[in-house]
Order: sequence, then structure tokens, then C-alpha cells
Amino acid sequence: MDLMEKLVSLCLRRGFIYPSSEIYGGINGFWDYGPLGCELRNNIKAAWWQQVVREREDVVGLDSSIIAHPETWVASGHVANFHDPMVDCRLCKHRFRADQIDAEDRCSESKDGKHDLTEPRQFNLMLKTSVGATEDASATAYLRAETCQSIFLDFKRVMQSSRQRPPFGIAQVGKAFRNEINPRNFIFRSREFEQMEMEFFTHPKDAGRWFEEWRELRMRWHQGIGIQPDKLRWHEHGDDERPHYAAEAFDIEFEFPFGWRELEGIHNRTDYDLKAHSKHSGKELTYTDPDSKERYTPYVIETSVGVDRCLLAVLSSAYTEDEVGSEARTLLRLSPALAPVKVAVLPLSKKLSEPTRRIAVDLRRRFHTVFDATGAIGRRYRRQDEIGTPYCVTYDFDSEQDHKVTVRERDSTEQERLGLDQLAAYLSERILGY
Ligand code: ATP
Repeated sequence: MDLMEKLVSLCLRRGFIYPSSEIYGGINGFWDYGPLGCELRNNIKAAWWQQVVREREDVVGLDSSIIAHPETWVASGHVANFHDPMVDCRLCKHRFRADQIDAEDRCSESKDGKHDLTEPRQFNLMLKTSVGATEDASATAYLRAETCQSIFLDFKRVMQSSRQRPPFGIAQVGKAFRNEINPRNFIFRSREFEQMEMEFFTHPKDAGRWFEEWRELRMRWHQGIGIQPDKLRWHEHGDDERPHYAAEAFDIEFEFPFGWRELEGIHNRTDYDLKAHSKHSGKELTYTDPDSKERYTPYVIETSVGVDRCLLAVLSSAYTEDEVGSEARTLLRLSPALAPVKVAVLPLSKKLSEPTRRIAVDLRRRFHTVFDATGAIGRRYRRQDEIGTPYCVTYDFDSEQDHKVTVRERDSTEQERLGLDQLAAYLSERILGY
């Protein structure tokens, strides 16, 4: 099995990710996150929000509707330009994104495996729906293809109500939808996914400086959540690949099991979006500096990362196989901040369940804690290693007398005996950092 197959199998078996509507045969490009997957997602989103919003004075949050006025997508250029080139094979009838056919895409109907492809046609990726009781063209609306457009629409309201002025940013985490021609590589390319985006509004003359600052911050964030630095690199967009709105564009790429691919995009969007929305809506989207009285349309520096891609990068970075006492084990070396379960509390024998449970109830007020009394202790440790739980706490027969427990650390498997009165502080320091 290659790494990707191992990850998919682990995600399914342990409740991280399942195919959506599996009992009906699934639906291509849609996924459900199970109990551990949604914990991990929430932790990734919380870590992003912490760096981008909470730790700063100059970035505030937004949670806008998924469906916006349809004119939004005309103004943004998505209705006219958000296309991918699509080709069909005349033999096997499969459909591909013309720029993404690779060696493994072999034709099942031809002798040499080569497809007989049509000329590329442009295919719009926006998912349509209709709003209201009629279903004619006037009711057509779009599920947002990116979360940032509403940030531009709400720019003035947010600026005024939060008493911000450029340079400042607006951040948003939320679902986005793209009718991808060929969803593939597990959750890497889906039709429904989630983005974490931040738009930073600045005077045009400072845009270059902020672009560099955000590039550095974002790279540091990925390393800080535990992604191996040697699996991260920069890719600067050439003139032919840069999005239509961007003056400068860099991707943070990650070495996924299927190769180097985009994880996050950082763009200098200039004043493209504010000007486009201003023109289409007839509303002014400028800022007047109260000191200099200069009126200008701010430039925007954007950082845009997918939660799902990030989760896949985190999992593939953390997946490890090693040996403990000549026994093979699988573990996820997740940082304590991201681990879906922080602590597992285990009675050595079922007879000790009651006092052990009390420890779990107490720890649960601080971190996500599970209680597990079934199976041999070694097997229970392995079970936790495989989902990335950083600490296991074992209550044994001596604990009754000496009020001490054994704490086992996941990566080193080292064990330490600790007084129950020290346990919460010991774990807090290691899991929360204080
Ligand atoms: P790609 O070239 O891979 O299609 P993109 O350049 O269109 O991606 P952006 O529009 O810059 O992507 O979107 C910002 C981020 O949103 C990406 O870096 C990625 O993490 C995430 N993303 C985009 N499309 C998808 C998708 N179909 N599935 C999952 N995540 C996605």
C-alpha cells in the first residue's frame, strides 16, 4: 500500500473521513468528516483564527452568507472567467480537465491506453441553484466559489462598525463550492470544501510590504502547526498562470503523497475587487484618510488556504510507522494543539473503571479526553497512537494507595509516574502551553 492508500484506509477505519452518502454509492467530490475528523478540522480552524485574528489588533472576523446577490459573481469575473478547460475521450467517454491528465489516466477502450480526446471546451465551475418560489433565470443564484467576495461587499460596514482603518484585515472561514470537472486525490480536490481567507486592506504604496509580511507569517503558521518544513516550498506564479485579479501571486506548496501541489495562495489583488464591485453596484468603496484627506481605493493582500487540503497535509506529515519493542505500530505525530483527542484515560483493569472515569470527567473540562477500558493495555496504547493522542494516563492497582498515575507520551512512549494532584497542571503545560 502506498502512503495515500494507508491514509484513506486509516481515515475511514478510525472515523476521520467517509465518502458522503456512502450507502447510496457516494457522490463524487463530497466527503463527510466523522467524529475525529471534525475535531481535527475544528482544531485547524481554531489555530488559523488564533494567528490571523485573535493575536492581532488589525484583523477582524466575518461570517457571511453562502449565497450572495448573483451580481456579485458577475462583478468578480467568475461568471465570465471562472472556467477550466474540459475534454472528453471519444472512446471511454471519460471527462477530464485538459491541464490535469496524467500518466495514470489510461483509456480502458484503446489498446495502447491513449485517449482520443476532443478539443478543450471551457466549463464554468460555479454551482448554480435557484432562490425563491420561481425557477426561471431571474431566480438563479450561485453557491460561492470562494469566501472572499462577501468580504469585499461588506468592507465598508466592517471597517466602520469595528472602528478599523487601513491597514486592516477581514478574515472568514467557510464553505466554498466548485463544480470541479475531475475531483480527485481524496479531499485534495472536492466540489464542496472549506476555505480560511483573509483580505488585508492597505494603502497602495504599502501593498508590497504587507505582501511580504503575510507571506512570512503564513509560512511560519504551517510550520508551527507541525507540518514538516522540508515538505513546504514557495511557488511564484509566472505571467501565464497568475489569476486575472492578481498583480503578484505566490503559492505555498506541500509535498503531498501524489506530488508537490498548492496548499495556500497569497495574492496581491490590488484594487481590482473593490473597484469592480463599486462599478457594478454603483456604491462607492473607497477610504478617505482623516489626517491627509487623501481618498483612495485600498489594495488588498489575500491569504487563502483550504481547510481540507491543510488537513490532508497535516495527516500526511504526521503519519509514521515505527517499532516499539519489536512490534510494528502506526502513529500520527500530530501537534498537541491539533490532535483530535488530547488525553486517553485508561484503567489497567475494568475493575478500576470507576475511579479512572472520575479522572476523565475532571480532565474533560480542560481538554478533549476519552475513557477506554476495553482490551489489553498495549492495544489501547496503539489505538491512541494511531489517532495521534499525545498522552495516555493509566490508573493501576497501586494508584488506589499512592494516588499516582502513569502518563505515557506518544512519540517516545516514555512513561512517568505522577501524583494525581499534579496531573492537570502537567498536561496543561504540555498540551496548552501554560
Ligand atoms: P487549484 O489550482 O488547485 O484548482 P486554485 O488556485 O483554484 O486551486 P484558489 O482559488 O487559490 O485555488 O483557492 C484557494 C485555496 O482553496 C487553495 O489553495 C486550496 O487550498 C483551496 N481549494 C481550492 N479549490 C479546492 C478544491 N476543489 N478542493 C479543496 N480545496 C480547494
